[in-house]
Amino acid sequence: MAVYLVTGAAGFIGANYVHRLLEWEPSDAEVIAVDYLGFAGNHANLAPVSERIVFEKADIADLETMRAIYRRYRPDFVVNFAAESHNDRAILEPSAFMRSNALGAQVMAECSRRVPVRSHVHVSTIEVYGELAPGNEWFTEGSALNAKTPYSAAKAAGDQIVRAYMRTYPDLNIRMTHCANNYGPYQLPEKLIPLAVTNLLRGRKVPVYGDGSHSRDWLHVADHCAAVHRVLHADLEPIPARAATEPELLPIFDISARCEVGNLDMASRVITMLDLDPSEWIEHIPDRPNHDRRYLISPEKIESELGWRPVHDFDAGMAETVAWYVEHREWWEQIIEERGELGFDWAGVRA
Ligand code: NAD
Repeated sequence: MAVYLVTGAAGFIGANYVHRLLEWEPSDAEVIAVDYLGFAGNHANLAPVSERIVFEKADIADLETMRAIYRRYRPDFVVNFAAESHNDRAILEPSAFMRSNALGAQVMAECSRRVPVRSHVHVSTIEVYGELAPGNEWFTEGSALNAKTPYSAAKAAGDQIVRAYMRTYPDLNIRMTHCANNYGPYQLPEKLIPLAVTNLLRGRKVPVYGDGSHSRDWLHVADHCAAVHRVLHADLEPIPARAATEPELLPIFDISARCEVGNLDMASRVITMLDLDPSEWIEHIPDRPNHDRRYLISPEKIESELGWRPVHDFDAGMAETVAWYVEHREWWEQIIEERGELGFDWAGVRA
């Protein structure tokens, strides 16, 4: 019987991964779902209740608590999705981001060192590479970390710690992924796509930062989950000595569908999918401070070494995603009732 420990399991990607694990894994596999139910955490994302999921409300940055969880369940596989993830919120509360994204990453790696596991994936983001310089095509696993925002800097700090663990304890079997921006079900409606749908369904306009010319690299969350699972179970060669100076030789995999879409274009697509006219439903609002303009990563390594490919077509995946929020109105109305209106307006805010 395999035991999976999945952190951030009540968040967007973690919950999608847990749902898929129950489908992919034999019926005797057990999932220990860990989340401290912060602002983005939503226990309802793990419904329907399955006897195969054990939920532990815990903070991954708390070493004693996490060690006790590891000792109790003796996980075979660990996937660390837990992080504070919203760039806007990080500008207002950077300390919480440092705790979860940097210290939390170290505590998780340390637990997997003290109570050995078969494999551990540290989930990270394209954003640790920073903004793509004009003329550059994309980042790769060998690109320098050059995080720009408090969110991505905290994630990059976590990445550096995990890289240090990979190099110092090569038998640990810890791996890392950097993924493009995800879309799909269960995303908190403070992020662009669900914010747009939930606003439109209530007769509100879609807020677009600045001129909307910022662009993102988009991937369906199911493709991200499949990639993480592939990395978790990959039979990898030992880390070579050259990885000391060549980070691309570390067990790090960048994940993307090479799908760049501008924010204004994305907002217009959602509006059109709801049979509305973009010229009437977009509201340009002041840009957030220090907003990354553009990033793209190459999935070449995970494609060639692990045979992963995205299977979701962008237009079909987006249509399915928008339909999911239309059909799950109770899910997001409950979130807005509990947290208040979501979305940020930087007009007049001193960051
Ligand atoms: P999310 O904010 O929806 O979910 C994160 C979850 O982690 C929440 O449920 C939160 O309560 C939990 N959490 C945060 N700090 C914790 C802590 N200290 N202890 C326990 N639980 C904690 O975020 P997401 O979009 O699902 O992102 C998951 C992971 O994937 C993150 O590591 C993020 O950096 C990474 N990622 C996200 C994207 C994306 O587009 N959303 C892209 C690439 C990588």
